[in-house]
Amino acid sequence: MMSQEMQLQVRDMARNFSNEIIRPMAQELDEKENFPHELYLNMGELGLFGIGVPEEDGGPGCDTVTYALVMEELSRGYSSVADQCGLIELITTLLVRHGTLKQKTQLLSDIMSAKKLVAYCITEPEAGTDVSGIRTKATKCDDGWVLNGGKIWIHNAPVADLGFVLARTDPEAGHRGMSIFIVDLHAKGVSRGTKEHKMGQRASQVGALNFDDVILPEAALLGQVGRGFHMMMS
Ligand SMILES: Cc1cc2nc3c(=O)[nH]c(=O)nc-3n(C[C@H](O)[C@H](O)[C@H](O)COP(=O)(O)OP(=O)(O)OC[C@H]3O[C@@H](n4cnc5c(N)ncnc54)[C@H](O)[C@@H]3O)c2cc1C
Repeated sequence: MMSQEMQLQVRDMARNFSNEIIRPMAQELDEKENFPHELYLNMGELGLFGIGVPEEDGGPGCDTVTYALVMEELSRGYSSVADQCGLIELITTLLVRHGTLKQKTQLLSDIMSAKKLVAYCITEPEAGTDVSGIRTKATKCDDGWVLNGGKIWIHNAPVADLGFVLARTDPEAGHRGMSIFIVDLHAKGVSRGTKEHKMGQRASQVGALNFDDVILPEAALLGQVGRGFHMMMS
């Protein structure tokens, strides 16, 4: 647990960054729907992403209260920026809890520094609130898996390098038949749909991803086969 003094120090750093850097550019970012990658690289250097990643995994190891304080300050600056922070927190939490040592070593640092942009991929045309409706499937092959299907309304889809994709691995097993795969979004068979134009948080890039016979290595599986639904929902 962090001392209150440390929590307030991190909050003040986020507050100053928000007032001095984010706030002045918020209106233009929202009007032009620009993706502020430079800003995110800057925030990565300051340690504002992956706030809860433990120190032994290379993160700042802050607690949930500190994460909430940072999100509050970033949201006051511009909600799309907080949105990116929340997305990275979601993905790094999944990796810390379920990743192998190799996955963590290879990915965490690049994700926290925003050098690799990520997407959290659950929603499909037939699966919104009811996640059990997903149809994207991963079929076992000799050296790994073959991914087919598609996702919609995915934050960062137009710009992301890596997708954390929930796919069906056993059609008969309901909630226990889904698994998460870490997908290279520059791989053969991955294509991106058009960017959505929204009424708010317009610098957050949202769109669709399609997977057409995408070959995944064994190492792309995150956590246990069949536990993807529970991992994402917890
Ligand atoms: C800006 C934006 C960014 C997003 N980013 C991501 C992302 O990064 N990754 C991702 O996977 N998804 C993302 N989504 C998708 C989002 O998670 C879904 O929109 C959400 O899960 C709801 O699904 P739906 O839109 O299909 O609505 P539906 O599931 O069709 O729901 C429509 C309405 O019906 C209600 N409803 C549904 N089922 C029931 C029921 N059984 N009883 C009573 N009421 C019910 C819901 O509460 C809702 O009000 C994003 C969406 C938006 C708008």
